[in-house]
Amino acid sequence: MISSHRDRRPWQGETVGDARAPRVDYDPGCYLCPGNGRVSGERNPDYRGVFAFDNDHPCVGPDAPEPDSLPAGPYQVRRADGLSRVVCYSPRHDRSLAELPHNEIVALLEELQQQFRELSARREVRHVLMFENKGEVVGVSNPHPHCQIYATNFVFRTIELEAEASAEYLAASSRLLFQDIIATEEADGRRILESRGSALAFVPYFARYSYETFVAPRGTYDNIAELSAPELDDLAAVLRQTLVRMDNLWRMPFPYVMAFHQAPVDGEPHPGFHFHIEIHTPLRKPGLLKYLAGPEIGGGNFLNDTAPEDKAAELRATLTEHYRAGAST
Ligand SMILES: [Zn+2]
Repeated sequence: MISSHRDRRPWQGETVGDARAPRVDYDPGCYLCPGNGRVSGERNPDYRGVFAFDNDHPCVGPDAPEPDSLPAGPYQVRRADGLSRVVCYSPRHDRSLAELPHNEIVALLEELQQQFRELSARREVRHVLMFENKGEVVGVSNPHPHCQIYATNFVFRTIELEAEASAEYLAASSRLLFQDIIATEEADGRRILESRGSALAFVPYFARYSYETFVAPRGTYDNIAELSAPELDDLAAVLRQTLVRMDNLWRMPFPYVMAFHQAPVDGEPHPGFHFHIEIHTPLRKPGLLKYLAGPEIGGGNFLNDTAPEDKAAELRATLTEHYRAGAST
């Protein structure tokens, strides 16, 4: 549901402060900075580029216990296991993904390709979820720029639904759902943010959040590991430019949840699945959060208070150079 006609209604609820901690390139108290100790007792190497390690507080780990007993009534239970990893983007404590130079974003995506190959080859792994939570409003526990990987023995629900929808659309129409989305967005044009070579970014017609953005390769692939070097390069460029625009919009670090949507690796074919990145953006205005409330939590449908076309136009109107460029080198 789009209710952009209500966007100007007065708001007297909670707003979110712009927590601008002093920025330092190294924090001796940060467990992700090079050379520092972690809670596990291990010490980070003096890393220079991307650094990946097994999460010391894993959500899913290989030592997950079997459920003690079967639950009563209609309830079902199953052991969830896998591996959780943390991937630091760079040694710099103060440089977000949007502020990294192009070649460092390419190096990060190459590391994620490698992580995908390694984790998806494990027998127990049925899906590899890669995501970044950015900003205090989405509950980030450490500001050092990093993403996480959950390689699990189950498939996350959103991915399962996407795989089902893509396969159903292909069976019904002999067409690829995501290719039709790209074609429709390009024909309209109002919601396109970036387009470069083999990659593009757009605020989808069906955006649930203000500024919700999809970043995708034009080619249809199951996962990031299948992209060629030139395709990865274009994807990095479009991703970077998109994140720069988000930060430039209000000249503040733009909070988001970014997820890489990749087909399950459960041994089944997933025809029509199209690897892409979704950026979910919780702020509607500077300091104003989109709350999930009655329609979303109670009803299960999203109410977007803004028109995707308007939000795409705002992002397109921003400068292409990061507002902090030159402030830190
Ligand atoms: Zn740090």
